[in-house]
Amino acid sequence: MPERIEWRHDAGTGTTPYSPRFADRYRSESGGLDQAQEVFLAGCGLPAAWHCRPQWCVLETGFGLGLNFLVTWLAWRSDPHRPRLLHFVSTEAYPAGADDIVRAALAHPQLTGLAVQLAADLYGLLPGVHRFAFEDGQVLLTLCIGDAKAMLRQQRVSADSVYLDGFSPAKNPDIWDVHTFKAVARCCSRGARVASWTVSRQVRDALAEAGFVVDKTPGVPPKRDNLQGVYNPAWEPKKPPHTAAVARPVAASACLVIGAGLAGAAVAASLARRGWRVLVLDLASTPASGASALPAGLLAPHYSPDDSPLSRLCRSGVRMALQQAERLLKAGDDWQLTGSLQRSADKEPAAMAATDPKGTASFRHPENWAGFEGEAADWVKRSTAEQMRDAGVEATGDSLYFPRSGWVKPASLVTAWLHTPGVTWRGRCRVARLAPGSRGWQALDDNGTVIAEAPLVVLATAFDSLRLAEGLAPLSLQAIRGQVSFGLHADAGDNVVDALPPLPLNGSGSLIPAVPLESGMAWLAGATYQRNVTTPVVTRQDHQDNLRRLQALHPAAAAGLVAGFEADRVAGWSGVRCATPTRMPLVGRLATHAAGEVWISTGMGSRGLTLSALCGELLAAQLHGEPLPIELSLANSLNPVG
Ligand SMILES: Cc1cc2nc3c(=O)[nH]c(=O)nc-3n(C[C@H](O)[C@H](O)[C@H](O)COP(=O)(O)OP(=O)(O)OC[C@H]3O[C@@H](n4cnc5c(N)ncnc54)[C@H](O)[C@@H]3O)c2cc1C
Repeated sequence: MPERIEWRHDAGTGTTPYSPRFADRYRSESGGLDQAQEVFLAGCGLPAAWHCRPQWCVLETGFGLGLNFLVTWLAWRSDPHRPRLLHFVSTEAYPAGADDIVRAALAHPQLTGLAVQLAADLYGLLPGVHRFAFEDGQVLLTLCIGDAKAMLRQQRVSADSVYLDGFSPAKNPDIWDVHTFKAVARCCSRGARVASWTVSRQVRDALAEAGFVVDKTPGVPPKRDNLQGVYNPAWEPKKPPHTAAVARPVAASACLVIGAGLAGAAVAASLARRGWRVLVLDLASTPASGASALPAGLLAPHYSPDDSPLSRLCRSGVRMALQQAERLLKAGDDWQLTGSLQRSADKEPAAMAATDPKGTASFRHPENWAGFEGEAADWVKRSTAEQMRDAGVEATGDSLYFPRSGWVKPASLVTAWLHTPGVTWRGRCRVARLAPGSRGWQALDDNGTVIAEAPLVVLATAFDSLRLAEGLAPLSLQAIRGQVSFGLHADAGDNVVDALPPLPLNGSGSLIPAVPLESGMAWLAGATYQRNVTTPVVTRQDHQDNLRRLQALHPAAAAGLVAGFEADRVAGWSGVRCATPTRMPLVGRLATHAAGEVWISTGMGSRGLTLSALCGELLAAQLHGEPLPIELSLANSLNPVG
């Protein structure tokens, strides 16, 4: 549940948010806005310090009600010399609810609009790293939910400004101790400026021990003093151990992305937002011609009782994909947030549901979700008997409901990403191999002619990445052919359409009941899995397999559609997925050479809609040495050469 906040009436300052947990107020006596502006922004020399810089990174301890973030965002917005990208990384052990965040900002009309935008995205704040994008991806908030020390170990931040906030050292000493400051110091480059409203001796000593040189400065009345300083240790700080997830920051220049499917288009958009001139090459004559030509697919979280790395990755992916869909696509035409039901059929019912003492089945949470049941329910809950009845299926007691899911047309997303300013697309270019050249890596065609050359190449060629990466890094990729079956509502008849569920179903196969295709409103059922097959042909056998899946998933829909299947009146689409043995995607650097670098984003498996936007942002973050959108350990597990 969101942190409980009491709104207390204080003489002179109006209503003040108060934390019963820490027995302390959320903001200074003069109000949060003054504190954010005077103590933190001005204390770190902002906005002047970030003028005309390509990127700026603020690190904050104690997100609280988000006022410091909102004020920094507003300052960025108002500054004609703002950096191209503003990163704001903040830690919070007890996240406030969206309503309280908006309420806290209501006192400051200039912040209200921003607070409403922030609040709209603040769902499902389970322990871990959450990334939020605003201003077309130029303001990136990374919220680290959990203990600050532990969370900062899961980041590779190089902060330019540090805001030390939180409840008073007397009420919450942990956040002000030397261990927290050492964790903060690990995230600072020498010269990073630090600011705080507390000047307690103990805090100053702990900061000095962590390598910060701090001074008291005149405070905002009624406070006498504030704290300002700089990270400038008398010793050479130990660099964190090198991982492929960390790259030396590079300057944006020209880049080649090979492959114009979901993976390649997402990378292209992420790099272009950071100032790269991106040329996307593909062998096909139109973008989204490989697996991403799927007419429509499901975007959905993944649930596992132990909250596996794939489940965590998918939640981050869904959040980012939904942000992209909301910003770039037309709801109802290109995508729809519908929610979806996952029927587990006879597979692992006990893993999904536990039986409570009254004998009723209840949803079993992974252990680390204790205390975060409300946040978990934003992602997944047990489906209700009513939902199952409305969907026209038997309530088996082991089905799940994912509120944050829906269908998306991959080609719409690919097209939108390729329209990002800075991205150029060129079709009918089959890249036969890569070779280092004098001005970068060269993409060569079958005749050995150079198609294009750039200091940075990103492979997003799905299963063909295996061949193109030969000699650079050994990859383990598998081709999995698959087929979906679909048909028009108009051809199915009213009775059949009435039998379709109101939202997509997933489980043994999937059913998207209503997607507007060019030819009319359609249903879509799938999909088959045929390993090690690279030819995407539509077969009658696969239609029959899809019908069998549908019979298990939604017997009434299958009964209505069976005649169409039997009479070959069902359309089909087939494509080839590219998967890794762990079902996790591959994202990271493949090779470094004097000519430049080769990176990869592939292995999206059956989850390209869920994972591609996240993988694009992760690749860009690693390349630039930016804060990561997911935990470091998770990012490292996607490393293609790790
Ligand atoms: C039947 C089926 C159902 C699916 N259902 C879903 C679903 O419901 N939800 C979901 O999220 N995902 C689903 N997927 C998976 C999803 O389609 C993929 O994960 C996603 O499209 C992969 O995107 P990609 O960019 O990695 O690969 P692709 O879209 O295949 O893109 C690779 C691109 O590289 C190009 N290329 C390859 N080699 C070369 C070369 N040498 N030179 C130049 N260009 C080259 C290709 O032309 C292609 O355009 C499904 C897949 C299938 C097959």
